[in-house]
Amino acid sequence: TYTLGPKVSNWDRDRKVWLNNNPEFPNFVNGKARILLVTGSPPNPCDNPIGDHYLLKSVKNKIDYCRLHGIEIVYNMAHLDKELAGYWAKLPLIRRLMLSHPEVEWIWWMDSDALFTDMVFEIPLSKYDGYNLVVHGYPDLMFNQKSWIALNTGSFLFRNCQWSLDLLDAWAPMGPKGAVREEAGKILTANLKGRPAFEADDQSALIYLLLSQKDQWMDKVFLENQYYLHGYWAGLVDRYEEMVEKYHPGLGDERWPFVTHFVGCKPCGSYGDYPVERCLSSMERAFNFADNQVLKLYGFGHRGLLSPKIKRIRNETVTPLQFVDKFDIRRSVHENS
Ligand code: UDP
Ligand code: MN
Repeated sequence: TYTLGPKVSNWDRDRKVWLNNNPEFPNFVNGKARILLVTGSPPNPCDNPIGDHYLLKSVKNKIDYCRLHGIEIVYNMAHLDKELAGYWAKLPLIRRLMLSHPEVEWIWWMDSDALFTDMVFEIPLSKYDGYNLVVHGYPDLMFNQKSWIALNTGSFLFRNCQWSLDLLDAWAPMGPKGAVREEAGKILTANLKGRPAFEADDQSALIYLLLSQKDQWMDKVFLENQYYLHGYWAGLVDRYEEMVEKYHPGLGDERWPFVTHFVGCKPCGSYGDYPVERCLSSMERAFNFADNQVLKLYGFGHRGLLSPKIKRIRNETVTPLQFVDKFDIRRSVHENS
């Protein structure tokens, strides 16, 4: 059967030796685990040219978040393995980055159609000390209902370790495009509640794997639902004004969602579950909602959530450092924690 590459079996030991030999590349810096955020898009231009503009906005949003929180970022446009094109492309990419960056402790995958909408919130990593995979999901939907949306693979974190390499190996076999992916899709649809008939996708395959080999994997999987590591856009984008009125960034949950993910929207491709116009205006709102949090430090804000135009929100001053102290996002993180 299909494999992601030669079996690596001593990664924990080899990586530990490497870290000892390369103290200039530590996996923890100032007590914080080194995180690499990974995202990407297909190698070719979008079918719908406006899609490329939204991919640009999406990567600007991620660069802003990562810069503010000291996270490194990779943008990939290559298909490292042509068998695993499309949504499966993240698997060989994550594996390759783990093996090429032993200094990285956590690899965080984020879809191109997911935006950070809380620029202050930080992943509570200490909560995951005993875990190797963190993914947004609900145990009840997973183990009682066997739902195909029990978890979401648009935003998740893998610890750089042997366990993660093994999980990727176990996850990949339904991915090869063509007959394998088609046949696997039938198994997934037959076994997962609510799943329409289509080829195997990475999300359904992960749910199916964790359901069928629960004892082998679940003790190291954290199904997170205390905050929106992934937040489904449809229930969120119309409430941003209300959030601004009632709450503040840093909460990360339904009061101020950490991530807004445009599941079912395909502004870059040709088909999707929602009208492209609704998707684009919703993405515009999410982008501007997040961008306002960034622009605030510089004294600006968007004129409205649908407007690319900005306005000044305070006057220039001869004592600018007072605003640095007041509005720097990196500061509010520490106040909240
Ligand atoms: N992706 C990629 N290369 C591809 C296709 C997809 O890097 O050739 C990434 C992209 O970030 C996308 C994610 O994989 O958001 C999931 O792919 P999918 O086609 O499921 O798109 P989505 O569900 O996010 O619209
Ligand atoms: Mn997505």
